Amino acid sequence: MKAITNTENMSKDLGSVVRRSFLKTALIPIMTVEVVLLSLYLVSNHYIVEKNLELLRNNALETISDISISEARNIDDQLREISRNNRSLQVEHQALFAHGLTQKLTFLDSAITEDFGEINKFGHTSVFVSSNTDLGPEVSEKIVRTEKMEVRFETLVDSNPNLVSSQFISWDNVVRTYPFVDDFYDKHPYDFDLTKTKSYYLANEKNNPSRESVWTDPYLDPSGKGWMLSNLTPVYKNNFLEGVNVLTVTLNTFSKHILSKDLQWSSGGLVMDQHGNILTMSRSAEKFLGLSDVKNYNLKDKPENLAITRPTKFNLLKQNTMTGMYFSEFFNGNEESMEFALQGEDFLITKRIVPETGWQLFILTPLNNVYEPIKIEEAKIERLCMMFLGLAVIFYSIFFIRLTKSAKKLSKRITKPIEQVTHMITAYESDDATHKIHEPVHITELDNLLSMNFKIQKAKVRYQKLSKEMNVKNKQLKTLAITDQLTQLYNRLKLDEVLAYEIARALRDKSPLTVAIIDIDKFKSVNDTFGHQIGDAVLIGVAGVMLKNVRSTDIVGRWGGEEFMLILPNTPLESAIEHVNHLRKIIEGSQFNPVKQVTISAGLASCVEFGCAKRLVEDADQALYEAKNNGRNRVEAAPMAIPPADQKHIVAV
Ligand code: GH3
Ligand code: MG
Ligand code: MG
Repeated sequence: MKAITNTENMSKDLGSVVRRSFLKTALIPIMTVEVVLLSLYLVSNHYIVEKNLELLRNNALETISDISISEARNIDDQLREISRNNRSLQVEHQALFAHGLTQKLTFLDSAITEDFGEINKFGHTSVFVSSNTDLGPEVSEKIVRTEKMEVRFETLVDSNPNLVSSQFISWDNVVRTYPFVDDFYDKHPYDFDLTKTKSYYLANEKNNPSRESVWTDPYLDPSGKGWMLSNLTPVYKNNFLEGVNVLTVTLNTFSKHILSKDLQWSSGGLVMDQHGNILTMSRSAEKFLGLSDVKNYNLKDKPENLAITRPTKFNLLKQNTMTGMYFSEFFNGNEESMEFALQGEDFLITKRIVPETGWQLFILTPLNNVYEPIKIEEAKIERLCMMFLGLAVIFYSIFFIRLTKSAKKLSKRITKPIEQVTHMITAYESDDATHKIHEPVHITELDNLLSMNFKIQKAKVRYQKLSKEMNVKNKQLKTLAITDQLTQLYNRLKLDEVLAYEIARALRDKSPLTVAIIDIDKFKSVNDTFGHQIGDAVLIGVAGVMLKNVRSTDIVGRWGGEEFMLILPNTPLESAIEHVNHLRKIIEGSQFNPVKQVTISAGLASCVEFGCAKRLVEDADQALYEAKNNGRNRVEAAPMAIPPADQKHIVAV
């Protein structure tokens, strides 16, 4: 038990050992495998997702590149169509001016003379003449000649949704325009000079020596129709610039027909001119760039904001931001696509040139929209993983709790019988009689151990019983060894022992010690007369009387035959003589049927201080001899250890 207590500090209890063992051998390996599998799954899933994203990205890039190409071609086609139409108008106008006057202008006289400088209505076109223009036959002829273009203007503008107007401006400010305008003089002074406008001089000899059709930069329409763009063709008569034909497109209309359609992934399109000005953009692009296009700007509403070019914010190249920087790089670079961050969102962007004008068409595609299907799947997988992790945590928590409980239970199941056996052994050592038969724990080894407890307890009972019996036997043996079987008095062996002890004590304590040897007189004749058995009975009787009449401190025993010894510790010779003599008298007076009287003779010897030791018994024997010689039934004492001269026998009768 002590050993167990001492090792308690170093060792752990069985419960924690079992728990640790479960953890090491079961839970940790299982969890490790789970974590590794989950990690592998996540890594491979991540790899697949990355691959899919790349595929989607490439697919999107391919798609929007295709869209860019077709859109750019579409824009180019439309612009070319306008410019082609304008070139045919140029040819037609030149033909008009090349031929001479073919009809009389009678109906003109009243119209022009009475209301010049005001609105002149000819069919669906309107004609305006500056107050600075000399209204002579030349101008009248010009009006009549150009009237032939009225139907052309009308069919052209009405059949092409991008076209908002067709206008002829003569060098001397005779203006024919379709569709009909009734508020011309609200926007222009009476002495207007349209040859000073960009729409005119870009087409002149100096700016357009090849006499091709040219495009203006976008500008804000002074008549309030928003952002405009015009295609110009000069009309020559020989080498004289008769005027310019202007086909006008509003960017509003342009964007409506080109960029308003829903592109895949909610992509946005925008067109920029060669200077980086945004000409038009779709709603989505406005949202991506954080710009709101001014499409219907009315000069009358805010005349102070009059500007003929787009505001700087519509030129991305002039933005002093990272976006501007990257965009400039892309705008001027050879790359046809790149990834680009706008307002914190990633975009895939493609670039395509519109050859007719040198514009560039950009398509912005939010990568999030491209990645959406995979992102949704990824989010699903992530949710699934989180769910799995959650479940795993719950499962392993429950598993661990159950494990702890079952470990406790198991350890209890194991420790209980061990504790019981320990208790049993302790009880066995301390002679504690408590022992029970324990319930089986159904573990073979432990049940065997418990049965050992029972066996040990049984052995213990048997041992205790045997031990008791042995004690009794030992006691009996011991008694037997020192008892005379006939008289039940001490035997010679015991008397020798007591004698040696008492002599030693007397010597040590310097106390008196007297020894008497008592012999039955003429006992032979008893035997002879009454038989040996009666002799035995007499011996028993005499012994009984002696035992009964000696002091408790005296020791009486059978010295041999019909002789007895009486040891009287701490008794001087005189009082011993007295005692023995008293005893002699009692025996003399007793009857031992059928023997009438038995007498005894006794020889005493005493020792004081150094006067005894080995000769004590011989002296007593000698004194007995004296008593016999002196007639029997008497007590004789050996002389004390005194000088031989003074020695004499003390006799008591
Ligand atoms: P004395 O007075 O001189 O002692 O005469 P005595 O006859 O007693 O002495 P003796 O020595 O001549 O005889 C002793 C006898 O005691 C002899 C023997 O047969 C007898 N005796 C000794 N032991 C026993 C015994 O155990 N039982 C019986 N019945 N007789 C015994
Ligand atoms: Mg004798
Ligand atoms: Mg005798």
